[in-house]
Amino acid sequence: THFGYKTVEADKKADLVADVFHSVAAKYDIMNDVMSFGVHRFWKRHTIEVAAARPGMKVLDLAGGTGDLTAKFSNLVGDRGQVVLADINDSMLKVGRTKLRDKGIVNNVSYVQANAEALPFPDNHFDIITIAFGLRNVTDKDAALRSMHRVLKPGGKLLVLEFSTPKHELMRKVYDMYSFKVLPKMGALITKDADSYEYLAESIRMHPDQETLKQMMIDAGFEQVDYTNMTDGVVALHRGYKF
Ligand code: SAM
Repeated sequence: THFGYKTVEADKKADLVADVFHSVAAKYDIMNDVMSFGVHRFWKRHTIEVAAARPGMKVLDLAGGTGDLTAKFSNLVGDRGQVVLADINDSMLKVGRTKLRDKGIVNNVSYVQANAEALPFPDNHFDIITIAFGLRNVTDKDAALRSMHRVLKPGGKLLVLEFSTPKHELMRKVYDMYSFKVLPKMGALITKDADSYEYLAESIRMHPDQETLKQMMIDAGFEQVDYTNMTDGVVALHRGYKF
């Protein structure tokens, strides 16, 4: 089967994304480690550093999935703070909630099933919003960015961690080969689900590059938008403020 952005219409894309994450939820964490050689931990740690969450803050971990960032934020904001893990997919939310509860993280975290395109939160509510490896799965990215802008407090910041475009030609080639040839095979081996990992490779390739995403954030109302590349731009962390 060929699951690509180009071949799938908007409404079907949402169903496809739902199928993918229902299917991979149980093995999501182990696949992340295997497929990225553990490097996703470094990308996430850097995101947490840039987020600079302080005690008492309200943080939204959007498309938070199995809660890697939520777990770290929970420690940083403390008992007076609040972390909301929001995700559209109840299988991912369930895995996340179980994992975090097993780690003893209970007090300041809540779980909300929500679509990033229409967030069910009040205006000007969060100090920090992160969306890690989530935006490329969202059908209407502009609507999602506007929705994030709405629920962010003035002075608050948005961080988008996402696959992007490698800077060097050689890296682009290696990375393309890896994601199109190796990833689906690994996915098939570990999860018996090659299609989901084919979707993953395709969604990475179709995602807007660094400058395009920066402009999309500016168009959604964010200011002082900038990004840093990690791993030669395989991944980029975009930051923007609401003033
Ligand atoms: N943030 C986690 C991480 O970095 O490990 C999970 C990332 S996972 C690759 C992408 C997540 O985005 C999935 O849990 C999926 O359910 C969620 N997602 C996809 N479309 C979404 C939408 N429209 N609104 C909210 N979450 C969405």
